[in-house]
Amino acid sequence: FIYACAATGEGGSSADGEKAELRRRFGQWHDPVPTLIESVQEHEILRNDVYHMRVPLKAFNRGRTALLGDAAHAMAPTLGQGANMAIEDGVVLAHHAAPDGDPLAALAHYDRDRRPRTNAVVRRAARILRLTSMRSPVTVAARDGLMRAASRSVPGLLLRGFDGIADWRPPTARIGA
Ligand SMILES: Cc1cc2nc3c(=O)[nH]c(=O)nc-3n(C[C@H](O)[C@H](O)[C@H](O)COP(=O)(O)OP(=O)(O)OC[C@H]3O[C@@H](n4cnc5c(N)ncnc54)[C@H](O)[C@@H]3O)c2cc1C
Repeated sequence: FIYACAATGEGGSSADGEKAELRRRFGQWHDPVPTLIESVQEHEILRNDVYHMRVPLKAFNRGRTALLGDAAHAMAPTLGQGANMAIEDGVVLAHHAAPDGDPLAALAHYDRDRRPRTNAVVRRAARILRLTSMRSPVTVAARDGLMRAASRSVPGLLLRGFDGIADWRPPTARIGA
């Protein structure tokens, strides 16, 4: 699939169809963007508003209930990490939830392990969202110039945004074991 993001009004829809809107917004982009737009049919296009949690939850657990995935830490899709974090949540929850263990303690350990990491990724994705959704031509030109210069002078700089994210390893030692 292909996705494109644009800063627009909430719930908006284009009067002459979403494909026309995509052409208007992205049809002048470099190859293969225009070709990709032309390759999709109107009925194949989904247009949704994207929301993220600006205010983090105080806890992912309450009593015998815990939240994971977007319910706990919905983030902007700018880093492509929402589903990855949900999978990590599941791994950590399974790690702590021993069949013979105390479920309340397991959920508390899950919350303690996951909340700081996922909230940090939510914040990082939001920072990139602010960069990618700039609209003033002056700030956009300044951003693009800086990005180009930084990428040339420090190769791999952009990939460093994934430091501390992509190198995650599942936990091995159970707390209290
Ligand atoms: C444009 C875009 C691109 C993205 N790209 C990436 C990417 O490249 N990599 C990545 O890791 N993440 C990406 N994400 C984020 C990722 O899609 C989400 O973080 C992930 O789907 C969250 O999974 P989830 O199971 O927590 O929630 P969801 O996928 O939202 O699943 C929740 C499910 O619960 C169902 N549901 C809701 N209420 C009820 C109810 N009352 N009863 C029964 N069912 C219910 C919903 O219909 C839904 O199927 C992207 C998101 C967007 C918007």
